[in-house]
Amino acid sequence: MRRFDSLSEVRREIAAGTVSCQQLVEHYLDNIARQENLNAFLEVWPEEARAQAVAVDAKLAAGTAGKLAGMVIGLKDVLAYEGHALQSSSHILDGFKSLFTGTAVQRLLDEDAILIGRQNCDEFAMGASNETSYFGPVRNAIAPDRVPGGSSGGSAVAVQADMCLASIGSDTGGSVRQPAAFCGIVGFKPTYSRISRYGLVAYASSFDQIGTLTRSVEDAALLLEVMAGPDQFDSTVSQQPVPAYSQELAPAPQYRIGYIQDCLVRPGLNPEIKAATETALEQLRGQGHVVEAVEFPYLDFIVPTYYILTTAEASSNLSRYDGVKFGYRAPDVTDLESLYKKTRSQGFGPEVQRRILLGTFVLSASYYDAYYTKAQRVRRLIKEKTDELLRDYDFLVLPTTPTTAFKIGDEDRDTLAMYLADIFTVQASLAGVPAISVPNGLDSEGLPIGLQVLSGAFREQQLLAFANSLAQTLAPEVA
Ligand code: GLN
Repeated sequence: MRRFDSLSEVRREIAAGTVSCQQLVEHYLDNIARQENLNAFLEVWPEEARAQAVAVDAKLAAGTAGKLAGMVIGLKDVLAYEGHALQSSSHILDGFKSLFTGTAVQRLLDEDAILIGRQNCDEFAMGASNETSYFGPVRNAIAPDRVPGGSSGGSAVAVQADMCLASIGSDTGGSVRQPAAFCGIVGFKPTYSRISRYGLVAYASSFDQIGTLTRSVEDAALLLEVMAGPDQFDSTVSQQPVPAYSQELAPAPQYRIGYIQDCLVRPGLNPEIKAATETALEQLRGQGHVVEAVEFPYLDFIVPTYYILTTAEASSNLSRYDGVKFGYRAPDVTDLESLYKKTRSQGFGPEVQRRILLGTFVLSASYYDAYYTKAQRVRRLIKEKTDELLRDYDFLVLPTTPTTAFKIGDEDRDTLAMYLADIFTVQASLAGVPAISVPNGLDSEGLPIGLQVLSGAFREQQLLAFANSLAQTLAPEVA
């Protein structure tokens, strides 16, 4: 069977009678089995997917099928699905099964999506390479000695290597956009609070958002339309009505587009990514859009601010994993204190421990004001400046990442270098605005490059319409 790039393609063939959901499921199961070496899935649900396919085929025949009928989806291992294992790729959640289904996942099921399995990611979504997973790294299908990005690395590779049509991931500081860029697909993070976080394992709650990894912007729009909106189980979710994003993808003839000049002159920005970004900006200008350089004076502060605030929130969120009620418990404990200490030392990997310690430090009484309070203030400045730019301009356009996919286990890469690699994705996360990464060609080694677009909060409709046409301009074969 050929590869499908969007649900509308699938639906056309279903309507023509040339493909069925049952055939689609077999196709993806085969691809998963043939590419186990990529380590994208932690668990596959063949029997359930087959049963769902039979049911959805029947609904299609009866004309009662939901919006996502024909879409086979994988879930990042941070999303709760009742009765299914949920581990955040961590040893500390060994044996844990979810007791309920999260809101976003339930909405997918209600629209007849077929769920095929649980995908590998960085432990507790902390990382940008998928190397911190307890279950080992995921490999980039384009170059298996390279990382797929992270933390939604398995979710990106599953779509890249045609193991499902779409994946649902999470994005705290770039975790759907950066792996999408490294794998040559579309990664979309909506406005903070657009999608309920009920049933999403918490990393840093004031940043976490569910996002999508797809081959088309159209599918990203459709998935947002299904998952977004008010939910009684998440008090932070937005009450704003949800437009029919997928029906409104016609772009305006002219937009005002800003690009942050400082981003393009960063040391460490791969010259080929710089050139690809400049070419894209030129093409947009050629299409009649207003394209202007803008000042954003806080670029050097965004990574430190992000890591102070997210580790603080993580140290609090992850205190619940103590070995008492669920998950892993160290076998050799003597008293309550040793139960906590040994369980947490053995159950969490080094990156998660580093972040818990860092977060505990920045929240400690003597350093709280110097770090945490200050970072909150800087976040406010970053947000206000970003919002201001996004009032003056419809969109900000910048590279998704400073480099293309790097080698797995590269010795030259230290922790700080990894954190700095998040430079272009964390601005949208600190400001809470939506952002999307679309493929922007390949470098001279054949590795994918991503282009990122930010819009003002809750302007997803405009952002998706623009990204849809941009994807077609940049890489017509992918769009
Ligand atoms: N790379 C970033 C981090 O390690 C982003 C992770 C994410 O968005 N979950 O925190």
